[in-house]
Amino acid sequence: MKTRTAPSLRQQLHALFTGAAVLALIATALAPVLGHAQAQAPSSQSAGGPVSLPVAPQADVATSPVRQPATEAAPVRVEGGSNTIANQIKDAMNGGDATGKQLNIIIDQNSSSGGMAPGTQPPKNPGAAPQGSKPTTSAQTRKAEQQGQARLAQSSNPRNAPGIVIRAKPLPAPKPKTPPEPELPEHWSYEGLGGPQNWHKLKPEYAMCGKGKMQSPIAIRDDDTLKGPAEPLLFTYKPSKGTVTDTGHGIEVKVYNTDNVLSVRNTKYRLLQFHFHAPAEETINGQRFPLGAHFVHKNDMGQLAVVTVLFETGEPNALVERVWTHMPLGPSDSVRLPPDLVDINDILPKDQRYYSYFGSLTTPPCTEGVLWLVLKQPVQISPEQLYMYNQLYSKTARPLQPRNSRTIRDAITLTGAMPAN
Ligand SMILES: [Zn+2]
Repeated sequence: MKTRTAPSLRQQLHALFTGAAVLALIATALAPVLGHAQAQAPSSQSAGGPVSLPVAPQADVATSPVRQPATEAAPVRVEGGSNTIANQIKDAMNGGDATGKQLNIIIDQNSSSGGMAPGTQPPKNPGAAPQGSKPTTSAQTRKAEQQGQARLAQSSNPRNAPGIVIRAKPLPAPKPKTPPEPELPEHWSYEGLGGPQNWHKLKPEYAMCGKGKMQSPIAIRDDDTLKGPAEPLLFTYKPSKGTVTDTGHGIEVKVYNTDNVLSVRNTKYRLLQFHFHAPAEETINGQRFPLGAHFVHKNDMGQLAVVTVLFETGEPNALVERVWTHMPLGPSDSVRLPPDLVDINDILPKDQRYYSYFGSLTTPPCTEGVLWLVLKQPVQISPEQLYMYNQLYSKTARPLQPRNSRTIRDAITLTGAMPAN
């Protein structure tokens, strides 16, 4: 900026003292600021301070041939103070680092393209006729002469005389500082920095939580499913040993009987564990159930099938009652269950029609390729049973994930039985 405006300085100062126009020096100094600069020159400027005097490099101004006449000829017009042109320029130069300054000189109002501070008006020239308004009639001429005399009278007041105006150029708004990235926790959670929105950032192996296109849970709507007959889910569950654990994310029951088998799609999936989410993660036609259980199975090829059982409040549930009886005392605590205590048949609904789709684990690492089987009919749990669970966990549902283009099968009727093999 300084190099752009400096070459015109001599010409414009010269124009001032030939009486042709008003010069306005537009600078980034308000009158109080100018005073500040005078008082503390030459090294008072600090970065970000109020004084930011725009001025051409010192050599350009100091050697100007019009500098001396300017101090003698024209009354100086300074907003908020009185000074000579030379002193104003000198002060402006001394008021800090000249490399960051800008000197703009404006001749009349038509010369303001040299750079007015945003929002400022060019100063009036009380002694000059308006630009481009040459009188063409004798009446107009007389009127212009009268106006000119009035302006000359006004010009006896230093504040109305031709001169230099130094005004403040608004400082650029400070750039908002980008807060440092908060340090993410090592362990995932359902809230805070370790919450679902950050799971994929916590560990490289959690990347699928962020970039996966077939994530769970999803919202299931009956008006957007592939309806038709479907094979039944063949549960072969037997009373089993187990351990109930507080994982820190929920209550989980590990099942130690490989004879608990789900047969579907001509494949046998063995039950590994079941656990709870409060509230349930899937929504059905917009409805959110207060509790859900996920029964996690795996086949011989390592593929996962998860059966969802939804709970609504009502009568107590027998299996829930037995598990809650052995509730752990806190995170990482495990309680071994009495033999044959775990009988999954006690928790399955009578109507076993279901939705099915391909999704993912709903907790890190959010592995995809999981066959989801969501039983439509909820089972009941008493308010007391629900309350006990909610005292431990009540916000353990991952947010709904985009369905994208996935098909959700809706088993309207269950046809035939899976042949045993
Ligand atoms: Zn789950």
